[in-house]
Amino acid sequence: MNQSDVLELCGDLHDGDAASMQLKVIKYLEKHTKSECCALLVVSEDTTELFCQVIGNKLLEPEVRFAIPTCCLSAILISKKTMKLADIGEAGRLELSQRLGLEVKCAVFVPVVNLATGSAVGIACAFNKKNNQSYTPFDEDVITQCFRYTIPVLTSTLALQMERKLKQETQSLLQIAKNLFTHLDDDTLLLREIMQEARNLTQAERCSLFLVEKDMLVAKVFDGNVKEDCAEVRFPINQGIAGHVATTGKTLNIKDAYSHPLFYAGVDKETGFKTKNILCFPIMDNSTSSSKIIGIAELCNKIDGLYFTKHDEEVASAFSVYCGISIVQSLLYTRMKDAQYRSKLSNELMMYHMKRSEGVVTDEDGLLYSEEVKPILFYDPLITNFTYSPRGIPDQETILVCLSMFDDMGLLNSYRIDKRTLTNFFLMVKKGYRDPPYHNWYHAFTVGHFCYLLYKNINSLNSLREIEILALFVACLCHDLDHRGTNNSFQVHSDSVLAALYSSEGSVMERHHFAQAMCILNTEGCNIFETLSRQDYQEVLDLMQDIILATDLAHHLRIIKDLKKIAKEGYKKEDARCRKLLLCLLMTSCDLSDQTKGWKTTKKIAELIYREFFTQGDLEKAIGIPPLEMYDREKAFIPELQLNFLDHIARPVYQILADIFPEAQVLLNTVDGNRNMWIRLRDESKQRRLSSTNSLDFFDMQFHSETPALIPEENNTDSSIKEEQGKSN
Ligand code: AMP
Ligand code: ZN
Repeated sequence: MNQSDVLELCGDLHDGDAASMQLKVIKYLEKHTKSECCALLVVSEDTTELFCQVIGNKLLEPEVRFAIPTCCLSAILISKKTMKLADIGEAGRLELSQRLGLEVKCAVFVPVVNLATGSAVGIACAFNKKNNQSYTPFDEDVITQCFRYTIPVLTSTLALQMERKLKQETQSLLQIAKNLFTHLDDDTLLLREIMQEARNLTQAERCSLFLVEKDMLVAKVFDGNVKEDCAEVRFPINQGIAGHVATTGKTLNIKDAYSHPLFYAGVDKETGFKTKNILCFPIMDNSTSSSKIIGIAELCNKIDGLYFTKHDEEVASAFSVYCGISIVQSLLYTRMKDAQYRSKLSNELMMYHMKRSEGVVTDEDGLLYSEEVKPILFYDPLITNFTYSPRGIPDQETILVCLSMFDDMGLLNSYRIDKRTLTNFFLMVKKGYRDPPYHNWYHAFTVGHFCYLLYKNINSLNSLREIEILALFVACLCHDLDHRGTNNSFQVHSDSVLAALYSSEGSVMERHHFAQAMCILNTEGCNIFETLSRQDYQEVLDLMQDIILATDLAHHLRIIKDLKKIAKEGYKKEDARCRKLLLCLLMTSCDLSDQTKGWKTTKKIAELIYREFFTQGDLEKAIGIPPLEMYDREKAFIPELQLNFLDHIARPVYQILADIFPEAQVLLNTVDGNRNMWIRLRDESKQRRLSSTNSLDFFDMQFHSETPALIPEENNTDSSIKEEQGKSN
């Protein structure tokens, strides 16, 4: 080697790009040490890794990284002394061969020292000296001399490259911030965007995002395909790695997940995903003087790297500032929108009730307070029979009957509920119903009455806890509060206020019914649960919510498989999930209980239901949405539709009920009797060539003409069913 060669090399290092410079330096080393190939391992900025961008004449994409604490060459960085292959042993030889992609037969490793600071900034490696020769002190000198002159320009180019990278990252962070701020009106989209950007920025395989809700961490949006079927994941704020970050506010950079004491391997076992390393950082709300943690992001598995670097931590920390601002803004936006909708809704409700003459307690209602709670049989000796339809009970007696049923189930006593409060509550619930043909107070009242019938006629129902019976009965009365005679799909398609409030969560109407029930409970003098313990109070509300949401037939269809399983394998009363499913089944059987009454009732109900459905169909047509057949008065053929409804919805409910409770077999028999009547009606209608395209004609001809052969004797007060139940309300 002579000095002029090194000077020539230095003169040639003008690329401004660290990798091409290294290529030149390495070529020089290969030539002057007569090596098969050479490489330079550079110490990373955070001094935790050695990275190699070039080996021989190859650019490595991505670069190969060695963790300094475990790398076979790290001793050189401390001792700053040259090592030979023998010094790193066979394991070291294999590691280098494998990671660098060449068979190392002979080698020399020379520390590259920054003369200005005196610290080792890299290791120069020469591999496989040609002609089977060994490396000599001359070779070591060639390498040392080479770097003596080239290292200043190499390190400054590396630093410049780093600066450029940082600048680029700052620019992309600004772009990301701009991106995030365009999603403030959709929190799901915003959270997805945050996760994707976090992954891209740090080269992570997966990202999870948890928001802090009281003392829980909650994930509602999931990365990629992971847990897409899962509604949400929530766990206590002090649990696991995310919990640690949420409580300390400090970033955790975990290099080996499985050896970390806070790591829970259960999720990996369940999902088959293998977590290797984790970068978990807090997302803060800095909008007020006292900043608080509002979320946690957990990144898993650095792609093409050993683990997340110090640099990743810095990027994450800068990124989290934008996340914090955008999440806080998005939550504020949602809350503001929600408040707007709620105020619109309360205006709407106020207008509606102002229009009704009985918006306040009437004199007639006032009398209710002075009346004793009478024994239930006072109202009708048959009132506790499954065959009894309560639709014949006069409107002004319905509250008294509710009080008597409540008392007869022992609930008044058990929960020491004030009779006046209970009366207020029932009155408010009654007034909370509107007057559509079917979904009016009489529907709620019959549903509540059927719950009472189940309690009276099915012995083993006493396996339910008293609080569950209380929740079921109250939920029955409240389950359709403020129904407007239109279904969930109509709310969504007509852009109603209710859809704006609830459509993101599904079951729009049911959520509104429950919210109305809560509203009544929160009205002064109406909180029938005020005497309950804190725990019972919370439980009864949770149960009511679950039960009311279960009245969405879509929910019922989702759980029917589980219900059939219970029917087959038996009902296990100790199993909380089983009990919850049973409550849903009981609720649906109450909701559809008109089908378990005599033919006259069933037929009358069909008339009320289709009056309501057809009105919705007319509204849909008016706003340009083609209604489904059963909502379309021009197309619906009622007997066929009823048979469909019975076969696919109602009958299976009572079949399952009878399978679980033999006493319910009578209900199924009645449903089957009604089914036969619909078959006869369908066949007769077809025979008489009744047009199926004009359903109102069908009503007029079939429902208002007496065809004695079709109508058997009723065994209760069906004959007194009001023509227009809705109007009597
Ligand atoms: P709900 O709205 O809570 O009363 O839920 C019960 C749903 O079952 C109703 O909205 C109707 O869609 C449906 N349903 C009940 N009875 C009938 C019937 N006789 N024919 C067709 N659908 C019915
Ligand atoms: Zn209902």
